[in-house]
Parts: sequence; C-alpha cells; structure tokens
Amino acid sequence: MVSASHGTGCVVASTTRSRSSNLIGEQPADLLAVDIGGSKLAAAVVGARGEVRCRRAVATPLTSDPEEVFGAVVGIVDHVLAEAPPGLSACGVGCGGPMTAGGEAVSPLNIPAWRRFPLRSRLAAHVGVPVVVDNDAKALALGEGWCGAAVGQENYLAMVVSTGVGGGLVVDGRLLGGAAGNAGHIGHLIVEPGGRKCRCGARGCLEAEVSGPSILAATGRPPADADLAVRRWAGRLVGRAVASVANLLDLRLAVVAGSVALGFGEPFFAAAQAELDRLCRLDFSRGSAIVPGGLGGDGPLVGAAALARSGPTREAPSYPGPGASPRQSAGAVDALG
Ligand SMILES: [Zn+2]
Repeated sequence: MVSASHGTGCVVASTTRSRSSNLIGEQPADLLAVDIGGSKLAAAVVGARGEVRCRRAVATPLTSDPEEVFGAVVGIVDHVLAEAPPGLSACGVGCGGPMTAGGEAVSPLNIPAWRRFPLRSRLAAHVGVPVVVDNDAKALALGEGWCGAAVGQENYLAMVVSTGVGGGLVVDGRLLGGAAGNAGHIGHLIVEPGGRKCRCGARGCLEAEVSGPSILAATGRPPADADLAVRRWAGRLVGRAVASVANLLDLRLAVVAGSVALGFGEPFFAAAQAELDRLCRLDFSRGSAIVPGGLGGDGPLVGAAALARSGPTREAPSYPGPGASPRQSAGAVDALG
C-alpha cells in the first residue's frame, strides 16, 4: 500500500537534516527508489521520512541490447533488496524521457537501447510491489516538496540545470502531468529568440543556451570552468524562463537543482532572482523567489521515492501544515510574505 500523502516530517540522509515527524497513525513502510540516467543507474531504500539507505549504483551499460540495460537495473535492485528490511511498500522510478503516460513505455533520449521499453510492467513483475514510473525532473519536484526546498508549498516549479534542463510543476498540491505526461519541460521555453539550435529542432530554448553541453559549446569551457559573466548570464536566462512560468501559472517559488546551477552558485542565483524581480510585475507574481534545491545529490533517489509515495494520483506528498519549519525553504517562504 502506498503511504499516506500528507503529514510526515523528513530526514534526508543524515541526522543533521532531522525534523520532527507529525505522522499520525501507522508508520508507513520503506520505499524502493530507482534512478535511471544515461550515465548512471542507482537504487536505494528510502525511509518514510526521506532517509536514503542501502544505496547501489552502476554505470549505465553502453549497449544496444535493451535486456542488458534492464539486467543492470535488476542487478542493483536485487542488491538493495538483499540488504533492505522486509516490507517495502512500493517502488518509484525516475527516468529520462520521453515516455508514455505512467512510464509504461520509456524511450530515454540518452539510453538508445531502450525504445518503448515496458519498464513499469517489467520491474513490477520483478519486485512484486506497485511500481510508479515518471520523468526524473517531475520526480524531483515531488521530492523537493516532500523533503527539500519546497516543503509546505502547494504551488511551485522545480527544475534541473545539468546535462539537460528539465522541470516539474506542482499546482494546487498536485504534480501536473499533461496529455502524455510531459508537463514541465521548461528546457524548451524560448529565452533567446533566434538563439542556439536546440536538439528539439527549435532555436533559443533554455536547454540550448544553459545546459552543460551548451555552455561548453558556446564558451569552449566546461561549466566548472565558467567565468563570472557566464554564470550570471545563465542565471539571467533561467530567471527569464521562470518568470514566464510564474506569470502563467500563478506560482511564486522555483527550486533549481542540477550540477550546472548548483555549481554556478551565488552569482547564478542572484542573477536569476534579479531577472525574476524585473519580469514578475503582476500583483500575484511580484516577490517570486528562486532558490537552490534542498536535496543535493540525493535528489534523484528521494524524488523517485516521492513518486512511489504519491501513487498514481501524483498528489504532492508533503503538506506539513501549521507549525512546520521547512529546512531549506525558509528564505523562500519569507520572501513570499
Ligand atoms: Zn528545445
């Protein structure tokens, strides 16, 4: 049984992140979390308060054989299950897109061996508990609301700026899906008309401008070596995209994770916030805040667990209620007034 949607506190990875639990009733069981990426496969047990245990990761096989990739997934899952306490309640999987609704057939752009691979049903048959599969950026959005920088928020955007740029939207307490489950693809908002060619075929998409490979192509240096001007420029473009989303969807918090954004740090976030302030001028969008993600390297696994926890409805899994004290989002909440 998937656990209750509301009311748990959260501990992620270490006791320093502890918050008191306001869980009422029976303690939900642990969750199995799986993160499937183009370069790495990871699995772990995630506790009812978001703590990550028994983790295992391997490189994604470079192969054209779909069964070889699935075998690698099953290998790390079995390793984790062997160490896990009995009674896992559900399994959540964050996976690169595109995919059909519910993750029934996944075709991750960066895993060429999988085209319309029946991931959800195959994994469910193996692990024997309900399996929920969704886009990894949407999973992260649920994770940030459960244990990260959006705790207590019912309307927010969470996004990743890394090798690609993706996002997930929680509106009125629910993760938005869209007709085919692809809502939240903020990487393809146009931020520079006539700008760089995007792999989607358009020009000037956010992903074509600020993803790690795009920055390398534009500057000749990897993002880790980007100078201050590049960090600020990337922040400004992300702020521009977020402003459009905030105005469109009446939300006032954006949580930004991913190696490029978090690596660029304060100059990036200051520039993004300044652009947001400049462009969010409607009564309801003025004062919108953009903050770093609160889950660090655990984000993908905590997000996958949040998917399992939310179940098929994708209800945002945390709304701690009055008196809760979000760990990372205090500044954002203050900014929201
Ligand atoms: Zn694009």
